[in-house]
Amino acid sequence: MQGHDQGASAELDEARATADAMLGVDLLELVDESIFLRDLSGRIRYWNKASEELYGWSSAEALDQPAHDLLRCQHAEALTDLNQKVLDDGRWSGELSRRSADGRELLIETRWSLRRDAGGAPQAIVESGRDITARKATDLVLAESEYRYRNLFQAMAASFWELDFTAVGAMVRSLYKSGVSDLRAHFRQHPELVREMMLATRVIDVNEQTVHLFGRGTKAELLTTVEPFWPDASSTVFAESIIAAVTKAPSYVKETRLRTIDGKEFDVLFTASFPPENMQKGILMVGVIDLSARNQAYAALEQSESRYRNLFEVMAVSFWQLDSNGTNRLFAELREQGVSDLPAYIDQHPEFVRRAMDATLAIDVNQRTLELYGARERGEMLGSVSRFWIPGHDEAFRHSLEAAWRREPGYLAETKTRTLDGRELDVLFFVTAPPEMRERGMVLVGNIDISELVASRNALQRMQSDLAHAARISMLGELTASIAHEVNQPLAAIATYGEAGLRWLGRPQPDLDEVRDLTQRMVGDARRAAEIIARIRGMARQQSPEPQPLSLNALVKEAAAFLRHELQSQGATLRLDLETGLPRLRGDRTLLQQVLVNLLVNALQAMAQAECATRSIVLSTRRLDEQLLLRVEDSGPGIAAEHVERLFDSFFTTKRNGMGMGLPICRSIVENCGGSIEAEPRPAGQGACFVIRLPLPAP
Ligand code: ADP
Repeated sequence: MQGHDQGASAELDEARATADAMLGVDLLELVDESIFLRDLSGRIRYWNKASEELYGWSSAEALDQPAHDLLRCQHAEALTDLNQKVLDDGRWSGELSRRSADGRELLIETRWSLRRDAGGAPQAIVESGRDITARKATDLVLAESEYRYRNLFQAMAASFWELDFTAVGAMVRSLYKSGVSDLRAHFRQHPELVREMMLATRVIDVNEQTVHLFGRGTKAELLTTVEPFWPDASSTVFAESIIAAVTKAPSYVKETRLRTIDGKEFDVLFTASFPPENMQKGILMVGVIDLSARNQAYAALEQSESRYRNLFEVMAVSFWQLDSNGTNRLFAELREQGVSDLPAYIDQHPEFVRRAMDATLAIDVNQRTLELYGARERGEMLGSVSRFWIPGHDEAFRHSLEAAWRREPGYLAETKTRTLDGRELDVLFFVTAPPEMRERGMVLVGNIDISELVASRNALQRMQSDLAHAARISMLGELTASIAHEVNQPLAAIATYGEAGLRWLGRPQPDLDEVRDLTQRMVGDARRAAEIIARIRGMARQQSPEPQPLSLNALVKEAAAFLRHELQSQGATLRLDLETGLPRLRGDRTLLQQVLVNLLVNALQAMAQAECATRSIVLSTRRLDEQLLLRVEDSGPGIAAEHVERLFDSFFTTKRNGMGMGLPICRSIVENCGGSIEAEPRPAGQGACFVIRLPLPAP
């Protein structure tokens, strides 16, 4: 071993001596690299000057020391393995972590080479080493930052392009040289030149997003030129970006359209940045942000706006967009004055309704509104809405104001409106104004023309009242005998009293007291006859319904009086069971009488038809919560189970000369008062019972 070491030293000494002789210096002492020699046992045999500087150990300190221990060497592989590699291959290189004399951590890039003696036997290892501690640190930072930027480059939602711009730079320079001074004008005159420049701009790299946005899945096919991605219509943007680059603008940003490799165009935000260090290298960084999603959202918005606009426009309903700021101001004034109850305020200041109308402005109306109001163009309809409201018919407007005051989101009512040519239309008037819209003074109003509906409803009402009238006449017809009898009675009495009176007057001593008494009876009977005729005329008269407050008990008594003779002649008894102190209901006197008389006549007819031995009817009135109840019970045959369902059908009758219109007319009269009528289910043979419920008017 010793011999080897000495041999190696001798060889080195020899080399140094030769170098010394040739150059006059120890060569190894001149080099910047640390060079040392260690024998196969690892002890240091030579230690140059650079090694002293690098590790901080002097040659004297280092010599004979085991290199590994002195330098506190650390490496991934075991030392014996490394040594074996050198013995096997003659050389090894790698990075080793070591410590200097003063304990600093050093990263050394080392190269080991094996020296052999003349016989080829391994003799020593020469190590040259370079301190790469600092370089490694910067490398690390660089790698890290590159990694970070690369990630950024890849991960950004934007598409990035790294472009080689050198050829374009050369083209521009030659343009300048040939005397072109206004690039913009030149590009405009020579659009083909711009295309050429696109072809000359090479794509060096793109990120994933670019592949996604412009490509078909592989990056390689995008690494050509930028030309395929620029539609003609966007050429000026490319030209402008070149002008920006050569005029040393820091960047250029423009919305434009680009196209995918398959030719599909889309909206983008094109950004190019020109940092001087890139420009020198002829590199251009371009970012492309896909705006189509944003633009699609805008388009969708526009579409939905236009959809609503369309709806507003084409609906067969008259729509109005109103500016209600005027009303908002009036409300604010009232609230400032301390008004809290608008209905009460309007009761005292009815002119407020017109003021609010004047202040409410139509700012848009749809086509249907023009048609409905006979306007030739929209302008005729705009401005204050007052002229469309008929004086005396502004209840609906008033109530809509009150709803607005209460911040209700909508209001609906039937009303009348006046057209531009003075026609009056029945309309269903509705207001839509969610509070946040109303606060901004926006109110949407609709008018549905219900003139025809109202006309047909009126016609229906007229028909119903005609029918009721016809039914009353026919009922009177059925009662002719009893009516004649009833009228006859007082007339006959009058005749009798008259004759008796004449006799008393014909006596030689006329008894004037007797005559006075008879005459008074005559007057009484004449009045009774007049009353009967008035009642019959009332029943026979055709009139439109006149709802008024009525006493149900009084109605019952009148009906009983009306049929008194009929009841008598049929041998029937009528018992009245009336609750006292009933509140008044609201309805038409004649029509409700008709219902009562009809039910009584039906009861009498049923009992007569069944030839009942005892014929009795009970009429009772009761109050049940907010309703009045009227029952008509008879001791007749009752209603067969199979008929119950059909009783109120028009033309359903079991009578030989019946019309089957009595009960349906009764039902329509009762329902028009907001009430109901039905036959109470009863066991067979226990008579019929009809129950009428009538609502009490709200207090
Ligand atoms: P009409 O009297 O012309 O038959 P209504 O509509 O008044 O028409 O009556 C329809 C039918 O209802 C009668 O034919 C009869 O069968 C039945 N009806 C009505 N009232 C009574 C009653 N009190 N008792 C038994 N059946 C009745």
